Amino acid sequence: MKLFKYILILGLVLSCRESAITEFQSRVGDKGNVILLTLDGVRYEEFFNKDIFRTFWDEHASKGIVLGDPKKKSRARIANTVMLSLPGYKTMHEGSRVWCRTNKCGPSKKETLGEKLKRVKSWNNHEVGIISSWGKICDAAMRKERSLFHSCGDMKVKLPGHFYLNEMQEADTPIWGGRYDKYTFEHGMKFIEDKKPRFLHLSLLDSDEYAHDDEWDGYMRSLYNYDLYIDRLYTLLDQMGEYGKNTTVIITTDHGRGKGDKWTGHFFNWNSRKIWMVVKGPHVPARGSISHKRKITHLHIRPFTELMLGIKEIKGKHRILDLILD
Ligand SMILES: [Zn+2]
Repeated sequence: MKLFKYILILGLVLSCRESAITEFQSRVGDKGNVILLTLDGVRYEEFFNKDIFRTFWDEHASKGIVLGDPKKKSRARIANTVMLSLPGYKTMHEGSRVWCRTNKCGPSKKETLGEKLKRVKSWNNHEVGIISSWGKICDAAMRKERSLFHSCGDMKVKLPGHFYLNEMQEADTPIWGGRYDKYTFEHGMKFIEDKKPRFLHLSLLDSDEYAHDDEWDGYMRSLYNYDLYIDRLYTLLDQMGEYGKNTTVIITTDHGRGKGDKWTGHFFNWNSRKIWMVVKGPHVPARGSISHKRKITHLHIRPFTELMLGIKEIKGKHRILDLILD
């Protein structure tokens, strides 16, 4: 009899949770867009420094939610055990823990977030996009067929209006290969303006490369630029009417970095597990940097994105409760 009672209570709790998600889903609807902006290897130590990300903290932080603040009760973490980039990005796009433990594990073998969106929503070729400074973001975001619109690393953007950017990126390549963020970002902004994507992953890299090269000044310059880029992205969306109003922006990093003189690296470095995340959009309360009980990781990005885009059968649906109930 006691067992029956427990099963009944468990059933009630589960159905309450289920209805909380369904209620939220109907409130969100399916008019939404999501832009995921990633800044490679930017430590929480710098992100929460209000002198570095000055415009963000002065003008934007309070209009959304910021996770990972060491001064608050807020745990934002990676969800891979090696503290590397490709496993981190793969986790975001696959929405589950990945076997990949190096930066050389090749294209995804499971249907990725973007691929699912295109299949379920039958969106056209430019409604889902991947634009990145690092070539391997394409491996995280797609299977080997590469069926999404993409420009990863030094690939040109084959669209009208991108000609001069393509020429400039070709004449000015970084020593680490791929493409400087200044070109990737401009391609991304133009793509948003012209194509109004329903989902875009815009991925920047300079910060991590300068850090590995032990170039503190270069790392800092990248961060000051990111602060400006974040401001420009929000400003562009503000100017885009209905499209901008319906767009949720997620900003995060793939991993942190070591402490003190270990700041240049992150591989198997415990401090690198700590990350930060910013979410701003029509269904996100304006609360700034918050405290919360549940740990939020890269695994939350896919279900949250699917929710914001009106997907009914959400992968990793149970994780949404961590975000909407907490
Ligand atoms: Zn790195």
